[in-house]
Amino acid sequence: MNIIIFGPPGAGKGTQSDFIVKRHNLFHVSTGDLLRNEIKKKTQLGEQISSIVNKGSLVSDEIVSTLIRNVVSLVEYKNRFIFDGYPRNLLQAKNLDKILNENKQKIDLVLKLSVSLDTIKKRILERQVLEKRADDNEETAIKRFKTYELSTEPVIEYYKKLNILKEINGERSITQINKEISDIIDTI
Ligand code: AMP
Repeated sequence: MNIIIFGPPGAGKGTQSDFIVKRHNLFHVSTGDLLRNEIKKKTQLGEQISSIVNKGSLVSDEIVSTLIRNVVSLVEYKNRFIFDGYPRNLLQAKNLDKILNENKQKIDLVLKLSVSLDTIKKRILERQVLEKRADDNEETAIKRFKTYELSTEPVIEYYKKLNILKEINGERSITQINKEISDIIDTI
């Protein structure tokens, strides 16, 4: 089974993905993590990516597609992916379908964590203390939230039409959300 987890920055996608990976033996693919790894390597591409990520804008679809294509072709994880932070726009959603199709796979379930901007601001500032990410500050958090609403919400419509979308109230406790997600996965 392949899953996508959606939600604005700070919605708890990473936390929930970690839980799902352990409970359902999946492989976590976060484009944010893949991009941060490129930045750490301090390559020319990494520097280019760093300036975009630090502004809270989206990295080009081409760069992200290349990273995803490399991961999806790993046969040991076939049909065990949970995509987090990807796709972020309609073009990426169509690219993902294409890449999965080439690898004889598809998306089976899309989870959407709904969280308000007020909660996001609070969580991002808490995360800033723990993880010290350069893009975790109030100004960038608001920008990333707006980018999410503008570019990513239309992708959710795309999956709604395919009847594979499940919406989850992300304002509740981590344990309550874990339980709801597990129950959904168990019925698939
Ligand atoms: P995240 O860790 O998912 O919050 O992503 C952090 C940042 O990485 C985002 O604000 C974007 O700048 C960039 N990023 C992550 N995933 C994507 C994607 N699928 N497409 C474009 N940019 C992305």
